[in-house]
Amino acid sequence: PAADFDAAAFGETHITKGIGRLSKHVFEDGKGSWITTDKGVKLLDMTAGIGVCNLGHCHPKVTAAAAKQCGKITHAQVNIGFSAPQIELIKNLLPILPHPSLDTLFFWNSGAEAVEAAVKLARAATKKQNIIVMQGSYHGRTAATAALTRSKTIYGEGHGPLMPGVFATSFPFYAHFGLPVDTDVEELVRQSLHQVRLTLQQQTAPSDTAAILIEPVIGEGGYVPAPASFLHGLRQICDENNLLLICDEVQSGFGRTGTMFAVEESGVRPDVLIFAKGIANGFPLSGIASTNELMSRQKPGSMGGTYAGNAVACAAASAVIQAFKDEHVLDNVAKRSEQLVSFLHSLQKESRYGHLIEDVRGRGLMIGVQFANTPTTADSDNAAAATVKKPEQIAPKVVAECLKRDMLLLSTSVFDVLRFIPALNISEDELAQACGIFKESFEAAAK
Ligand code: PMP
Repeated sequence: PAADFDAAAFGETHITKGIGRLSKHVFEDGKGSWITTDKGVKLLDMTAGIGVCNLGHCHPKVTAAAAKQCGKITHAQVNIGFSAPQIELIKNLLPILPHPSLDTLFFWNSGAEAVEAAVKLARAATKKQNIIVMQGSYHGRTAATAALTRSKTIYGEGHGPLMPGVFATSFPFYAHFGLPVDTDVEELVRQSLHQVRLTLQQQTAPSDTAAILIEPVIGEGGYVPAPASFLHGLRQICDENNLLLICDEVQSGFGRTGTMFAVEESGVRPDVLIFAKGIANGFPLSGIASTNELMSRQKPGSMGGTYAGNAVACAAASAVIQAFKDEHVLDNVAKRSEQLVSFLHSLQKESRYGHLIEDVRGRGLMIGVQFANTPTTADSDNAAAATVKKPEQIAPKVVAECLKRDMLLLSTSVFDVLRFIPALNISEDELAQACGIFKESFEAAAK
């Protein structure tokens, strides 16, 4: 291209305005936790491409496995025959799935497609239609998954009518109830389970309801882990009412929370597990795992698609699983998580603006920072307070300050939340650098 060619300006003109974008950088190169732009700017990446490049950008073993597969067969179409790299991937996946009963797989390309596959499975297997989702959930932007998504109205706004048969119920997050941060979590769990039971009595009968769909750690809705007692309660409700429990681990899966899947920590068995993002470290691959019995209830021909479980992406995914073992990635997640959380807690205690940090939460390297900017019921009960203009959000300002300092960091949800989702193999030094940039950016934004 000509020396004066402005790729970002060209992109702004020729790419849909429907995409929201954090920055105008043009990414050309990525290695580990670093991205280099077309202008030679080196960015420290605390987003991992929204929790995708869990092993860092262009992990050499993943790149090598994909390159090798490119020389063998790239499109081993699954409605025509079996794909050798997909069979190999299933062998590698079975031992790391969160329950031995999840022994049958279906692969797709994106997270949203996998969520849709899970809904189709639940409907076909139970012969029931309705799905219960959680307030604050995010499951994608396709026509069906926009209906399941309840983190922000923007995903459905103006796109309706959306898929019917979706009912949202409470998730035990204090901000959903307008309660303070120190509200007893078990009380929130009791309230939320009560609401789920009422949903089945007042809104959608068990005989019409196929499944409860939940992210074990709410992602786009604010980085809120589901307490283990809530997951156990949902399992019990599902068993009592003959519903399937579907866990969407698109963002929380593949080591993100310190275990291979977030639901593992609770010991709860999902009937269907949805995965994507981290599985192939940047190659488009997603899928669902369920029991052989449930998956056998689907009619041959009802599932599949041109690129379902692409051969190159499957080869990359097998290399990802091998690298997790060889490079002790989960050990690093535990150490770096402690480093990040203790830094954020010390910032909360010691910074002159620390009072603006209301909550530091999450698991592993899926860490959210909630600013003290969430309206509470006390505010809305108070007529005078209700007329006071809601303070400007802090998170977007911190994001902008980080960008000025060449660091990529994302905010999330309608609440004032920032999320750290770095590569899981980030080094101690790199994370310390990120913490330093974060401190400067936070203090500049808070001033
Ligand atoms: N489910 C969850 C929990 C997600 O976080 C996402 C993506 N952020 C999706 C589904 C949709 O995945 P995709 O963007 O690959 O369609």
